[in-house]
Amino acid sequence: MSMTASDFNKILRTYDNKQAKNRQSEKTRQEKVFNEIPKLAELHKRISSISLTSIMSAIEHPDRKDYYEQDLKENLALLKMQKKALLIENGYSENYLDPIYDCFDCNDTGYIANQKCHCLNQAIIDFSYEQSNLKTILDKENFDTFSFNVYSKEKDVKLGISPYDNMRSVHNLCMNFIKTFNTDFKNLILYGHSGLGKTFLCNSIAKELLDSSHTVIYLSAFQLFRLFENYRFHKEEEIVTNDDIENIFICDLLIIDDLGTEFSNAVTKAELFNCLNTRLLNKKSTVVSTNLAPGQWVDQYSERITSRIFGYYTSLKFIGSDIRMNRYN
Ligand SMILES: [Zn+2]
Repeated sequence: MSMTASDFNKILRTYDNKQAKNRQSEKTRQEKVFNEIPKLAELHKRISSISLTSIMSAIEHPDRKDYYEQDLKENLALLKMQKKALLIENGYSENYLDPIYDCFDCNDTGYIANQKCHCLNQAIIDFSYEQSNLKTILDKENFDTFSFNVYSKEKDVKLGISPYDNMRSVHNLCMNFIKTFNTDFKNLILYGHSGLGKTFLCNSIAKELLDSSHTVIYLSAFQLFRLFENYRFHKEEEIVTNDDIENIFICDLLIIDDLGTEFSNAVTKAELFNCLNTRLLNKKSTVVSTNLAPGQWVDQYSERITSRIFGYYTSLKFIGSDIRMNRYN
């Protein structure tokens, strides 16, 4: 769990690799278009040469420095416009030769003005909470691969709605949660029997928020309680640091999957209360999924958690029969 200096260096080395990989892609792109469009290669050379000439002239005639700088600026703007026009003419996007970055916020350095960029914070989170395989899961389970067709269109007589229509409305609420994530503080509790797509939707939400540069910690209830326990007992085989706990309280989104399946007692209940309550106070959103029906929340987690905490959550009910068999068909 806890991160050593060598672990941190390993993460920083992945940034060196990203930079090298992207410089290589830029080079490949450049070679390709320069071969295809010789005029573009000429323009590129002219841009380098006029920059150099202008710098040299300014050094030789310091009294005319401003004039040379202004002249260079105008010439460069003109040449760059011609470059973009040539790219478009030949079927490329105008930005095809621009620098490539995995993260445009820090240009793959991991830092913005000496502060860790969100991408570095997320890399630390992925390492600390062993969620490095999360991205592979999210490539499969996201809003693009989500299918409504696995839900029955037959109306549930008791509920007066079909699982299909119910899912349309659950889906809309989740999309709205994502769209307004930065402006409206909201929390979600997804509940219903297993196999109805709760985890799939949790994954889809995680992906959208990670893609929009938020920090996300995704833990099963079992993992969350084990973290608290290891922290409490200072277990040596799995040291949990203050930072590990702090991140759970302050990350942009915490997802707790499968709440209710963990072993709980008075201590774990108090820890859960503290965790959810601290996040409410910090105005940090949480998404919880559970197989427990609302009537069972009080039995499992006490009045305090149910009314104080879940009162601040939008509850989304999942209905229907197990759709796991149909999902990838
Ligand atoms: Zn970044």
